[in-house]
Amino acid sequence: MLYGWMNNHEFRFGNTLSFSFDIKHAQTDSLARVGTINTPHGPIQTPAFIPVGTKATVKSVLPEAMADLGAQALLSNAYHLYLQPGSDILDEAGGLGEFMNWPGPTFTDSGGFQVLSLGVGFKKVLAMDAQTFRRDDVIAGNKDRLAHVDDEGVTFKSHLDGSMHRFTPEVSMQVQHQIGADIMFAFDECTTLHNTRPYQELAMDRTYAWAIRCLDEHKRLTEERTTKSYQALFGVIQGAQYEDLRKKAASDLGSMESSGQSFDGFGIGGALDKGQLGTIVSWVNEILPEDKPRHLLGIGAPEDLFVGVENGCDTFDCVLASRIARTSAVYTMEGRFNLSNSRFKRDFTPIDDECDCYTCTHYTRAYMHHVFRGKEIVSATLATIHNERFIVRLVDQMRQALLDGNFADMKADFLGRYTHRSGQARD
Ligand SMILES: [Zn+2]
Repeated sequence: MLYGWMNNHEFRFGNTLSFSFDIKHAQTDSLARVGTINTPHGPIQTPAFIPVGTKATVKSVLPEAMADLGAQALLSNAYHLYLQPGSDILDEAGGLGEFMNWPGPTFTDSGGFQVLSLGVGFKKVLAMDAQTFRRDDVIAGNKDRLAHVDDEGVTFKSHLDGSMHRFTPEVSMQVQHQIGADIMFAFDECTTLHNTRPYQELAMDRTYAWAIRCLDEHKRLTEERTTKSYQALFGVIQGAQYEDLRKKAASDLGSMESSGQSFDGFGIGGALDKGQLGTIVSWVNEILPEDKPRHLLGIGAPEDLFVGVENGCDTFDCVLASRIARTSAVYTMEGRFNLSNSRFKRDFTPIDDECDCYTCTHYTRAYMHHVFRGKEIVSATLATIHNERFIVRLVDQMRQALLDGNFADMKADFLGRYTHRSGQARD
């Protein structure tokens, strides 16, 4: 029953005391696997798409509706929550999940990407195709930079009020422990495809040194904050498009141990050329320890999720599903299109007649067209519910296909249809 929670304010996920990862099935012909990540706020069946609620809210959608559409966990951002309302506020509230009324598992990104984005003036979507961006489009001039990185950390200017702040690996760990997500990421230096090779090497060395400092501070904070449930720490693999750098990062962080602590899992981050996504991810996942979960940071377009899953990634996050929804763009089995297009004015069919989401069950394309054209707030809510459900369900279907032994067929069927009628499948 959709929205049964309206009369039932308790919605609960199962609880376990600590963090673990169990692999249920591993493909023999690819790196893909099916498993369960157990967190203190419940399990995540993998592969799984983790919707993004950057500032402790998935924009325009209630957490109950996110649970209703099948979201198993949500990912927020440490940088944004540190600036507003302040990570101490989340600590006082009992942690991110409690604060935002989401009882399930939570992730926080370290803030490294956002802080460094200020530094180089990244586009909101990190360049996924080195061919289509000129250097000047991606990297701001020095005088315009809002962040400066050195070997100890990053000094940056708040995008909210211009105040100056400094993130170090220790500060990032302190902030993420206060925010209290089940899964945190180590503070890393995120580069672009346009940085030079010598700079990529320098950034890798920094990320390595920072990873050790994150483990040490994480261990200290875990021992200090004994009343809190365990928070898992994932190391972040950088190295841009370079095979030797990616493999070195995977080897170094995969075996890293400091203060008797190793990483609980790994994030694959940084500059990822879309055309090389599968190659880069497989370099890394062939080296990382098999028994720990791997999260592909910031990837969520349908065709990329297949590439990530078959190359051994377990979880994914991306703001795209909700961000494009607010501009009237929706994913469907027939490709991606914009509901504000006048061809939908008298179209009384659902957005996607194969979708089981609340929006597709109750509303037509004509209604969606109307609320978008009228700039009604509900347009964002309904379109976001559909897009998040579409992506969450797609990855759920990949998981089932792996278990059923028909992943290749399922992928061919989906991509054949998804790209067939739409020239707009890519972002
Ligand atoms: Zn739908």
